[in-house]
Amino acid sequence: MDLRYSDLAGLRQALDSGMVSAEELAQDYLAAISRDTHGAMLAVNPEVTLAQARAAQALIDAGQADRLTGLPVAHKDIFVTQQWPTTAGSKILQGYQSPFDAEVVTRLGQAGMVTLGKASCDEFAMGSANQHCAYGPCSNPWDASRIPGGSSGGSAAAVAAGLAPAATGTDTGGSVRQPAAMCGITGIKPTYGRISRWGLVAYASSLDQAGPMARTAQDCAWLLTAMAGFDPKDATSLEQPTEDFSRLFDQPTASATESAPLAGLRMGLPEQYFGPGLAPQVRQVIDQAIAQLERLGGRVVPVDLPRTELSIPSYYVIAPAEASSNLSRFDGVRYGHRTDQAQDLETLYRRSRTEGFGLEVQRRILIGTFVLSHGYYDAYYLQAQKVRRLIAQDFDRAFEQCDLILGPVSPTAAWPQADVKTQDPLSEYLADVYTLGASLAGLPAMSVPCGFVQAGSRLPVGLQIIGPRFQEARMLAVAHAYQLSTDWHYQTPERES
Ligand code: GLN
Repeated sequence: MDLRYSDLAGLRQALDSGMVSAEELAQDYLAAISRDTHGAMLAVNPEVTLAQARAAQALIDAGQADRLTGLPVAHKDIFVTQQWPTTAGSKILQGYQSPFDAEVVTRLGQAGMVTLGKASCDEFAMGSANQHCAYGPCSNPWDASRIPGGSSGGSAAAVAAGLAPAATGTDTGGSVRQPAAMCGITGIKPTYGRISRWGLVAYASSLDQAGPMARTAQDCAWLLTAMAGFDPKDATSLEQPTEDFSRLFDQPTASATESAPLAGLRMGLPEQYFGPGLAPQVRQVIDQAIAQLERLGGRVVPVDLPRTELSIPSYYVIAPAEASSNLSRFDGVRYGHRTDQAQDLETLYRRSRTEGFGLEVQRRILIGTFVLSHGYYDAYYLQAQKVRRLIAQDFDRAFEQCDLILGPVSPTAAWPQADVKTQDPLSEYLADVYTLGASLAGLPAMSVPCGFVQAGSRLPVGLQIIGPRFQEARMLAVAHAYQLSTDWHYQTPERES
């Protein structure tokens, strides 16, 4: 059996039984990373990784292993790390070495996980295809001519290609869910504020939220349990008690039975998520997944999310506005790239930023600065905030009729890679239509592998589950029940020989 494609539970067993040591496991993944042709990883540091693995093995040998001890993880290169460079996929941070670890990195380290390195991502997490990375695009392990999704595309590709059994991602408008869907893995963006943003390079602070990406819902529950929890260092961190996110696996609903684990579950289907924009092949796969959930006892109820389309203009005003403010710190003075072509301060700022930021980032800074400027603030930014509130209210109303909302993650499967310079940015923005709503409303949402479409190659499709605030445990339990009855999540792309 090839352990590299195992889920975390399988690796746990392998470690506990002594079938493999934490160091051997880490070595296996590092070797796979060194052979990778997808551009999934940006940085490794084998010496540190192997030292962490030996420390984990000592705990295992002493009988002091926790659930995650010795299990490897890759971090999206947007979490700052002391032992690996952090670039956020940007030239402006080339060579940047953080003096501290992100809270997520610290927590997973304390849980005993072994860091494999940093995964590729779109520059400052702006994008849906992982083509806007200053260090080269990332490709999809299911079809190397296609995108892996983004912005956490490196994380998703790494797990799908067996370069890491688990990875962290961040989701501002869909960046955990959409690459998870396109690479055939499981990923969850929890309720806004669940996971500390401390040490997460900021894109749009009112939307940014970290999340785990792995093969199964159970893996994600284990990871989320270690990642979540109040952090006084993050002003938007929620003071929620810690919980075990797999605690409802034996009883996903109050009336669950063995043959109908989802009995009583009201599954809301918004007609807006099944409109003409949804590719027919994807729709078919989603319909089959919903039918499977019905067989497990779930009941479909129609719900209405009337402002779904407005989530696009609302998000693409608010996110760039926050980005333009967050990215003003990259001025070539304190850290990051500094031009060597400047005689005065003004030119230093301008040249450093022009040389350091990529096209898409510059575009968003311009849009953001524009919508926040005097005379346009009311017309754009304020309007977008009002729409955001209405979208959140639509979800509240929908959840009066259902327990969870189901739909596709993305209107299509992974699309072909293309030169970003000739690409139409608008079409990429429009493809976010099903993920932005939960982001704007701060709701937990996940992607679960649910089948494939055929487009020359086999391309994975993800089912989206959106829950009310703090219902991650319920969502993960439903996804787990689905995964016990299907095997989409265990399918892997053709493996290297
Ligand atoms: N595609 C969206 C954007 O480009 C979402 C990115 C994300 O969630 N980080 O902003």
